Amino acid sequence: MESISPPGLRIGSGFDIHPVSTDPTRPLILGGVEVSSGCGLLGHSDADVVCHALSDAVLGAVGLGGIGDHFPDDDPSLEGANSLILLSRCVQMVSDLGWHIVNADVTVVAQKPRLSGFLREISSSVSLTISAPVSVKAKSPERVGPIGENLGMIALASALLWQP
Ligand SMILES: [Zn+2]
Repeated sequence: MESISPPGLRIGSGFDIHPVSTDPTRPLILGGVEVSSGCGLLGHSDADVVCHALSDAVLGAVGLGGIGDHFPDDDPSLEGANSLILLSRCVQMVSDLGWHIVNADVTVVAQKPRLSGFLREISSSVSLTISAPVSVKAKSPERVGPIGENLGMIALASALLWQP
């Protein structure tokens, strides 16, 4: 069978999960936006699940692995790192290879807090960082399983990349 020459399009997917911190002073950061001043997520960096899932989708689309391959969580220089900056560095890596991001789509699964009032701000923050439209949705886990018990938060992302 004759192989079909693929267009310069690649799709990538990303997943991230972080436990909810028991430190009431740790801020919850999603897509670079401080959503609440307490009950943030535990992680070596700022634990921004939106940026991490999106970074994985962008890198994965062109076979560059995931964010952990480029920014390991045992790197002391990345402690408390701003994940928006890590995301922009991932975008730079794919852009250096000639790839442009067409769009991305992100779903955040969280029992608490209600994110509906923040989605527009999160979306514009990440859209600005990756220079492409990003839709951000929130989904309730309906109190099912550990995410439903508010023990953690999940983000899923897809990104479409184009190379002229
Ligand atoms: Zn993460």
